[in-house]
Amino acid sequence: MTALRRLYGYLRPYRVWAIAAIGSMIVFALTQVVLAALVQPLIDDVLTRPGAVHKVERPHSTVAEAETFVQQHAPAIYRAKQRFDRWWSGDASHKADRVLTILLMVFVTRAITSFLSEYAFQKVGLSTVRDLRNQLYERMIHQSHRFFTERSTGEMVSRVVSDADAIQAAVSTRMGDLLQESVTLVGLICYLFYLNPLLAVVSLFGAPLIVIPVVQFGKRLRKTTHKSQERMAEIATLLEETIRGVRIVKAFTMEPFEIGRFREATRKHLRWNLSAQRIQALTSPVMELLAGVCMVLLFAYAQSRIAAGTLTGGEFASFLTALALMYAPIKKLNKVNLSLNTALSAAERVFRMLDVENDVREKPGALALRSVGSGVRYEGVTFTYGNEPVLRNIDLDVAPGEIVALVGGSGAGKSTLVNLLPRFYDVTEGRITIDHSDVRDTTLQSLRGLMGFVTQEVVLFNDTVRNNIAYGRAGIDEQQVIAAASAANAHEFITNLPQGYDTTIGESGVLLSGGQRQRLAIARALFKDPPILVLDEATSALDTESERLVQQALNNLMQGRTTLVIAHRLSTIRSAHKIVVLDKGRIAETGTHEELLGRRGVYRKLYDLQFVDDDLVKDVAGC
Ligand code: ADP
Repeated sequence: MTALRRLYGYLRPYRVWAIAAIGSMIVFALTQVVLAALVQPLIDDVLTRPGAVHKVERPHSTVAEAETFVQQHAPAIYRAKQRFDRWWSGDASHKADRVLTILLMVFVTRAITSFLSEYAFQKVGLSTVRDLRNQLYERMIHQSHRFFTERSTGEMVSRVVSDADAIQAAVSTRMGDLLQESVTLVGLICYLFYLNPLLAVVSLFGAPLIVIPVVQFGKRLRKTTHKSQERMAEIATLLEETIRGVRIVKAFTMEPFEIGRFREATRKHLRWNLSAQRIQALTSPVMELLAGVCMVLLFAYAQSRIAAGTLTGGEFASFLTALALMYAPIKKLNKVNLSLNTALSAAERVFRMLDVENDVREKPGALALRSVGSGVRYEGVTFTYGNEPVLRNIDLDVAPGEIVALVGGSGAGKSTLVNLLPRFYDVTEGRITIDHSDVRDTTLQSLRGLMGFVTQEVVLFNDTVRNNIAYGRAGIDEQQVIAAASAANAHEFITNLPQGYDTTIGESGVLLSGGQRQRLAIARALFKDPPILVLDEATSALDTESERLVQQALNNLMQGRTTLVIAHRLSTIRSAHKIVVLDKGRIAETGTHEELLGRRGVYRKLYDLQFVDDDLVKDVAGC
């Protein structure tokens, strides 16, 4: 219910269109009733020789009462009706012309209102969903890392794409259907009662007699078809099992046993299948028979009424038409319910995602950080993703321009530690400061604006090389882009690409090697020229030449910047001013490479295990 109310909130800006849509839809629905009503004069006045039909004057007390009511309360409508009646019952010889004129007018009205309602409903639905999508995307993109790690990409994509589509279909089409078919149905029922109340009661209450068996047949059919499908699956499993294990079957001479099992399975399948076929084959004839019996009864009744002069052939035909016209709305309304429910649950899912609190929010009145100032400090930082802390009581000072290498085994907490700095997550305890300001008191824009990130997984957008390097900047200075690319050892390979800096890369673009992608990411960071750098070196092995180019580029990048680097290369570690060794979320050791090696602690162990094997080889070969 609340989902419905919230959806209504999104519809509000388009209420003029919605009113236009509803208005024209009601008119369109009423033309359906008028069409059914026109069958009577079409048969009695247009298709019959003038004067051949004995006109029936029916005493409709309810109709008369309604007329009196209208006369008293809406005299204008009453006068219009009087004028219409006079025109309608005027010169009998021209009645046929009048009927045809009205028929034509009805079709013109239908054409206009059908277009209007269809377009207006689509306009409302599509616009509403556009707004919803925009809002959803905006919320999502501002969410913290936690939001993205807790959800699969597919889930988020389906909220924005398919759930929004389901809502759009419901608003544009189903709501329209619901309204149109309800009005048509009510109109047709009123008309049936107007024509012949007795016949109307009999038909409306008699109809379920036909409908109920059909529903029953449907239910049984579904059940037996399901059973038959289950048996088929059993056969498939049996087949797969025995074909795959055919050697065992043969080795144990189990062929007769397996054949027996297979025969039993096919026998069961046949039984359920035949049972389904029996029901299916029965449905149509039973339906037709029941409908036929009703038809005979209706015609017998009509014949007696026509003979008695209380019903005309045209009226009866009109009645049957109205009855037949009710079938489509009933069927559609049945479906509308289902798809409205689908849309409502889609809306609930979308709203739930919209309502997820962002756990990294900017404080009101947050201050803008201008520079790295006195440096970065982690003070007693503890962090937990949920249960166990993954960082415990971390104290770390990074002086301006200092390069701090983080090393430690997998899962030690290195990535978590660096992710806290740009507030991808917020610390659980303690605080992180930049130039003495708690990062939680600063604006996210200024905080992240101070930082450059080069991550293991290089994200390139489906755009030109130039725009990838100058990501997010307007008015790109070509010289700056080239300077950044050159410092990242990327200029040369970029100029060798088919369209140089204008080459589109990313999903649908040219393929770049791992080393080239890394150098582009480094160029991007160089272009941004941030005072603080967060680096997560790639662990994947590059060939020696690539490794050398990347290392050089990284050295250029780190030059003069306050750097936190998750180091996997010995050369990076050597050039770091300080190495911090993390072990199970704690700082185990701090010092320079030589100091730590001498201590023969965790670092020494890591070094022996990790760096000596691969990096040293590269180090010696490459640098
Ligand atoms: P490292 O970078 O040193 O390999 P991480 O910082 O990635 O270590 O991980 C530290 C610990 O936190 C690991 O035990 C890891 O399983 C856990 N962890 C990392 N990311 C998440 C997350 N998004 N949700 C829950 N636990 C996480």
